[in-house]
Amino acid sequence: MSYVDEIYERVVANNPGETLFHQAVKEVLDSLKLVIDANEEKYRSVSLLERLTEPERIISFRVPWVDDNGKVQVNKGYRVQFNSAIGPYKGGLRFRYDVNQSMLKFLGFEQIFKNSLTGLPIGGGKGGSDFDPKGKSDREVMAFCQSFMTELCKYIGADVDVPAGDQGVGGREIGFMYGQYKRITGLYEGVLTGKGLTWGGSLVRTQATGYGLVYIAEEMLKHVGDSFNGKTVVISGAGNVAIYACEKAQQLGAKVVALCDSNGYIYDADGIKLDIVKDIKEVRRGRIKEYVDAVPTAKYTAGKGIWTIPCDIALPCAGQNELDLEDAKALIANGCKLVAEGANMPSTREATDYFLEKKILFMPGKAANAGGVATSALEMSQNSQRLSWSFAEVDAKLHDIMTGIYAKVSDAAARYGVAGNFVAGANIAGFEKVADAMMSQGIV
Ligand code: NDP
Repeated sequence: MSYVDEIYERVVANNPGETLFHQAVKEVLDSLKLVIDANEEKYRSVSLLERLTEPERIISFRVPWVDDNGKVQVNKGYRVQFNSAIGPYKGGLRFRYDVNQSMLKFLGFEQIFKNSLTGLPIGGGKGGSDFDPKGKSDREVMAFCQSFMTELCKYIGADVDVPAGDQGVGGREIGFMYGQYKRITGLYEGVLTGKGLTWGGSLVRTQATGYGLVYIAEEMLKHVGDSFNGKTVVISGAGNVAIYACEKAQQLGAKVVALCDSNGYIYDADGIKLDIVKDIKEVRRGRIKEYVDAVPTAKYTAGKGIWTIPCDIALPCAGQNELDLEDAKALIANGCKLVAEGANMPSTREATDYFLEKKILFMPGKAANAGGVATSALEMSQNSQRLSWSFAEVDAKLHDIMTGIYAKVSDAAARYGVAGNFVAGANIAGFEKVADAMMSQGIV
């Protein structure tokens, strides 16, 4: 049995029931086969893959808080500190009802390679809770965030582990957690990213994942002599990533016709009016169906189905496994030429394989959505320097990082004889740097 297959079996046996984690490991290991087979003895001798697939540390804890009715609620809190070979752990916190250890291990594992691809010195981590801020009052969210940070603060620090936002964790939650960290430790340091602009945040961080996604997609198009201009685009989700992917695609001359949330999707043939979406989602924290109240010519459909809308470009920006084989087939049958993943692992394995088989331009999340964490790392740099860079300066750095990622991914795929397979390219390029660092640092 090959080293890669052996490790996958080991991961499944040692992590029972953690199917999302298994899926992420399989996808990465399969595309690393070429590299691992070529260096099998070297990697085996130091059990590199055994160490790479086992988190350095998982912290799991109780989060008690009091709701508006005076009742004590208890949630689970986690931080997965997966790999610190190339820098302090870095990765978001997710607050959503379905968060569990398997999900955070999958996200933390992906984060290792994503962070490596950015070229910045950041290791891989992820955390969160099964607390869902949806439908909670600001006071309840604050009570939860303070309790969560009271425990988490023991394990993080500006040079140790620097969490950020993810689903369910935006500026409000980061603010409450930062305040509590400062209160307990007495330190005003860059321990969280995604902070407000008046207290250590970076310009462009809010836009970074969505903008970065469109920058890398534009680079993919540029290499085949094309651009966003005049293209029809479908974007799933209506959160942070989707909104700013929509904004940048529109700025580049594309027409975005659809967005969704987990209840259903909107279709606006005239092009989505983003100011209305921002008001619903960022100001009123409402549902996407409210869009049709403001734009009666648009259509709302409950349930799944967004990928049946014809488009040139699809940007899945909602959540894991939201796009399956049937969706992939519908997209390609309707003429879609490019898929770039804003979310983490939004395409199922079968959908990804179908995109690769059909040879459309396909960029996996760990490369395509790396703009968020890259800009978080730029926020860390500004905090360390006690400086704030201008919007244009950060945006230019983000743009350079995304074109750099495209170059690394495309080069790695070509070096291993699979030119154009950006899934393999992203995994190989991300792995090489981490593996080299792990080999140099001995058995730790
Ligand atoms: P948000 O919570 O801001 O938004 C997520 C959006 O997607 C919501 O509109 C949500 O709807 C919708 N959604 C979630 N799951 C589904 C589903 N299965 N079907 C349809 N709609 C769904 O999250 P973000 O925009 O921050 O993150 C989106 C994705 O991007 C995640 O996978 C995240 O890990 C990834 N990502 C985010 C980064 C960031 O900087 N924010 C960085 C890198 C990756 P509802 O409100 O109904 O739940």
